Amino acid sequence: MIDPSIRDMGFDEYLAAVRRFTDEELIPGEPEMVRLGHVPEHLVDRIAEIGLFGLTLPREHGGLGWTVEQQVRLTFEFTRASAVYRSRFSTTIGLVSQAIAAYGTATQREKYLDAMANGNCVASFALTELEAGTDATAVRTTARATVDGYVLNGSKRFITNAAWADVLLVFARTAPAGRALSAFLVDRTAPGVTTRLPEQMNGHAEGPVAEIELENVHVDRDALLGGTEGNGLKHAMRGINHARTHVAATAVGQASRILHEASDYAAGRHQFGHPIAEFGAVQAMLGRSYAELEAGRALVLDCAREFDRGVPPKERISAAKLYCTEMASEVADRAVQVLGGEGIVGHNPVPRMWRDVRALRIYEGVSQLHERNLARALPALLTTTGLPG
Ligand SMILES: Cc1cc2nc3c(=O)[nH]c(=O)nc-3n(C[C@H](O)[C@H](O)[C@H](O)COP(=O)(O)OP(=O)(O)OC[C@H]3O[C@@H](n4cnc5c(N)ncnc54)[C@H](O)[C@@H]3O)c2cc1C
Repeated sequence: MIDPSIRDMGFDEYLAAVRRFTDEELIPGEPEMVRLGHVPEHLVDRIAEIGLFGLTLPREHGGLGWTVEQQVRLTFEFTRASAVYRSRFSTTIGLVSQAIAAYGTATQREKYLDAMANGNCVASFALTELEAGTDATAVRTTARATVDGYVLNGSKRFITNAAWADVLLVFARTAPAGRALSAFLVDRTAPGVTTRLPEQMNGHAEGPVAEIELENVHVDRDALLGGTEGNGLKHAMRGINHARTHVAATAVGQASRILHEASDYAAGRHQFGHPIAEFGAVQAMLGRSYAELEAGRALVLDCAREFDRGVPPKERISAAKLYCTEMASEVADRAVQVLGGEGIVGHNPVPRMWRDVRALRIYEGVSQLHERNLARALPALLTTTGLPG
């Protein structure tokens, strides 16, 4: 539940509160999270109280109503802490609530949005399957119409928060293969729904994804998002530009923390009678990382401002997602190098974050998909930016 005092704050005051929360609670809470293997419940409650579940929704739906630029600036702050904290609410604030806000029926908006904004309803976005990864159109899960609803059968994998979500937005075929997808709001505890955590997570270890089995799961007709069949892909893509902007901002937040940790370490670690920060080779790694970090930050902010002006700049957002997530991996890899053996052995947060940022290049479109889409759009992009076409 969002603390009522948060709703009275102007943006600068709220940004400062989120910065304090990150420095005083999220970052210090990381060792406990690592020990438990998941985000501690008392921190999930604090995340809800401070309003991070309500980051993206407008005030009329219980959220805080920040602009995309403001959301990005807030994301830069709280993603200086482990990216796993963000994963805990990202599926709720992103792809699911955005699709309900845009396409849900009045009943669906009323049932879910206020509860989501207040952290009382955790949502998962269940699209990926064994055969449907980058090619989301290959979904095989089926939804067979009955007199009063649908019966769902199929399995999903790699679904963030699925093991503890209240509601799953499940994408399924409403007719034989070849027909369009539809999206269904499915209660995670409904008979026939089971979730299974993976044996091992290599990155995002404290925020494991899960498999979902759907075996003859009956849902009422009003579980169909928007009340009409065949719009599933449109619903899935509704929040994609928004989600990609947030992932790019997350990469910037992660890279800034990682660089901070590496810079502090280099100042304190002495070899050959000098801090290693005085060696040119180490300075090259740190200096280059800072330049790339700031280039990424500027690109995300620029996309967010254009988003707020009206039409999301699809290709530039794709470029920001590609660049910032690759940049964060590079920065993290250099930081591990600066730490030497402590980058591999022990409890320094850098190696954990190095594994976490690796995943950012895989979800919300693998890097190769963005490269392909950008290459295809290039002739038009070069013309519209005034460069030679
Ligand atoms: C931590 C994490 C959280 C996730 N959370 C969710 C979630 O909440 N909900 C959800 O639905 N899914 C989720 N996913 C799944 C994620 O969206 C998929 O992993 C992603 O779309 C890639 O699909 P895939 O893993 O099947 O890889 P594949 O599609 O098999 O791709 C493997 C590789 O093949 C190459 N490749 C594939 N297609 C192309 C192409 N067209 N052009 C060039 N190269 C290509 C790329 O190098 C790619 O990395 C999550 C994944 C991870 C790792």
